[in-house]
Amino acid sequence: MNKPKILTVTDLPGVGAVTAEKLKESGYDNLMSIAVSSPSEFSEITGLTENAARKVIQAARDNLAMGFESGEQLLERRAQVIKIGTGCKAFDELIGGGFESGAISECFGEFGSSKSQIAHILAVRAQLPVEQGGANGEVVFIDGESTFRPERIKQIAEGMGLDANEILKKIHVARAFNSDHQMLMSEKSEDLVKSNNVKLIIVDSLTGHFRADFSGRGQLADRQQKLNRHMHTLMKLAGSYNLAVYVTNQVMAKPDTFFGDPTAAIGGNIVAHNSQVRLYLRKGKKGTRVAKLIDAPALPDGEAIFRITEKGIEDV
Ligand code: ADP
Ligand code: MG
Repeated sequence: MNKPKILTVTDLPGVGAVTAEKLKESGYDNLMSIAVSSPSEFSEITGLTENAARKVIQAARDNLAMGFESGEQLLERRAQVIKIGTGCKAFDELIGGGFESGAISECFGEFGSSKSQIAHILAVRAQLPVEQGGANGEVVFIDGESTFRPERIKQIAEGMGLDANEILKKIHVARAFNSDHQMLMSEKSEDLVKSNNVKLIIVDSLTGHFRADFSGRGQLADRQQKLNRHMHTLMKLAGSYNLAVYVTNQVMAKPDTFFGDPTAAIGGNIVAHNSQVRLYLRKGKKGTRVAKLIDAPALPDGEAIFRITEKGIEDV
């Protein structure tokens, strides 16, 4: 006898209407999102035991072609990737043309290294047509450090000869007050993504609230687990909607051990196997800034020197 075909979440064995509703509320509204979830997060959301959760996840996996893909298929998927440029030649070259859709890109560096400025520049440039180095899309800006400045957006947009009000209309800003709120905002942003052709999500900063909220002794594991979940949400958005995610991470001049080795991929294996870019930003000579590529699977190591100016970013 043929097994019934599983096409939607409610077709999964063990998922009734109530569970499906809970899943939907948490953003798990398709088989792929369930297939890539972990039994512990799944059981937390649904109230099922981890064992039952594992079976549901397995069923979702069995019904998706989650196995191997040919190199040709992968190349085809790579062809869908959109790259959002900064407008600085050296910088864009360093990262292979721009910040990519379908991935999380991270800039880390000390205070004043230009992480937030790059966020503002990307928020404008993501709206440019693809031919001009943009993604022709709207932007979600999750602001965890109250650093978003509409005036700065206006300045950059006008410097590029764009209508600043039109640009500002397409940047959806959410202030995040603490780490839980930030996680909630990233989950909620899916609604905006669906209805507004969002092509860039910015989280500035990714880590600040987590650092503050889990600063006590013995809280490291909790912090990493929550941060992992946060990254997971962002990764899913990046993959499901082919959008770029830009996150910032402040480190001390002498890199601290927030993520252990500062040059190791944050978020562990959740992001490690996705083509993602990590850039270390630092202050250079005479007001310049230096970006250093940390680990990108297909890009040569290197550095780019640039300068933040009134118009945005410039080559030196
Ligand atoms: P971070 O987010 O890494 O802490 P920022 O991106 O906020 O750092 O700031 C980087 C630098 O950008 C600042 O030190 C400042 O000199 C420069 N900057 C900010 N706004 C402007 C502007 N309108 N024109 C020129 N430089 C600016
Ligand atoms: Mg900043």
